[in-house]
Amino acid sequence: MQQICILGSTGSIGMNTLSVLDANTDDYQVIALTANKNSQRLYEQCIRYKPRYAVMKDVDQAVHLGEMLKNYKIEVLAGDEALETVAALPEVDTVMCAIVGAAGLASTLSAARAGKKVLLANKEALVMSGALFMDEIRSSGASLLPIDSEHNAIFQCIPNTHSDSLIQGQCSITELGIEKILLTGSGGPFRQTSLNQLSSMTPEQACAHPNWSMGQKISVDSATMMNKGMEYIEARWLFSATAEQIEIVVHPQSVIHSMVRYKDGSVLAQLGLPDMRTPIAHALAYPDRIVSNVKGVDFTQLSALTFERPDEQRFPCLRIAREALEVGGSASTVLNAANEIAVDAFLSNQLKFTDISSVIDTTMSKMTNTVVDSIELILEADSWARREATQALLRFQS
Ligand code: NAD
Ligand code: MG
Repeated sequence: MQQICILGSTGSIGMNTLSVLDANTDDYQVIALTANKNSQRLYEQCIRYKPRYAVMKDVDQAVHLGEMLKNYKIEVLAGDEALETVAALPEVDTVMCAIVGAAGLASTLSAARAGKKVLLANKEALVMSGALFMDEIRSSGASLLPIDSEHNAIFQCIPNTHSDSLIQGQCSITELGIEKILLTGSGGPFRQTSLNQLSSMTPEQACAHPNWSMGQKISVDSATMMNKGMEYIEARWLFSATAEQIEIVVHPQSVIHSMVRYKDGSVLAQLGLPDMRTPIAHALAYPDRIVSNVKGVDFTQLSALTFERPDEQRFPCLRIAREALEVGGSASTVLNAANEIAVDAFLSNQLKFTDISSVIDTTMSKMTNTVVDSIELILEADSWARREATQALLRFQS
């Protein structure tokens, strides 16, 4: 029995994880579930999965949940520290890190420091803290398995002989004879929208992804392609790759989830329907395989698999991410924080879609020092960037 903690169990990845566990009830036991404010959904999950701990980030909602669960043997905890505690419980083997945004950094790091099998959906944590995060994985003996479908695909395309050392942060793709990672992305809902209409796109339109059903923040990130930009940075750290070794390829059908090209010219790809239960099942069971209830691809129903170069004019966030990786240090911390502020403002109709990148660009242009050698400095850079981005919003607010 693998004992699991799911951070962010009420979200899209959290619920997909529980759905994979439903198909494999003999192999997994839920020890802890956590949520931000949705006490009703966490309550329903508690009744069904009977975890030992339930954590609400929101203290008032935690009190409410505690009342609803008073007849159950489930300990209800509240706040940020409790998230870190459940991620590091001795009885937990595996932690699904599926909180969205920088809010997930501390608990994800806590799982890493406690040497857990860390299933990483919360890409923002790695984008924010890159090298330091990987150091934590190496020094604690944790393993880091990618949930992001692209990175999970890349991981599935590397030789089995080296996959253990890769997830312990001990091996680079160059050692494996890999020349290039081909990171695919659908191009999101606005791939073909006329450029003069982009500025009037609404949150509803941005969240209507053609292939994937996801939380709001990552849906907007997919529409700006900042999601792909962050995945580019994520790939750099997960696979010890250089920027030149990673190429973004737009593939609108989302059937190929990414590819790797070896130096002998062979290209390996992982394919499947766009359903997060596949990478979740893969990472949960690694190195074994379990059912996920995802159907197989029916190739006779696919009209074509097509590929395009990404368009940095249309998607300036791709350029911003590339530049942040070049600058290094806290540049990607700043990128992430400014993006979170801008996306929030867009989602509450205070910022035009096309000004998301303007707010990030403005914030990044104010950066002076990018050297960071501790998580404390990462958190300082994050707070600084949030203040700057909030200032920048005033200039662009609609
Ligand atoms: P979501 O918004 O659906 O869920 C987020 C979860 O985090 C919820 O359980 C919520 O309660 C919790 N949460 C939010 N703010 C919090 C806070 N301040 N403190 C504690 N908990 C908080 O998001 P999602 O789509 O499930 O995405 C989760 C992560 O997985 C993101 O980092 C995203 O980039 C990544 N990811 C998602 C998908 C997908 O298909 N949804 C695919 C790849 C990667
Ligand atoms: Mg992805």
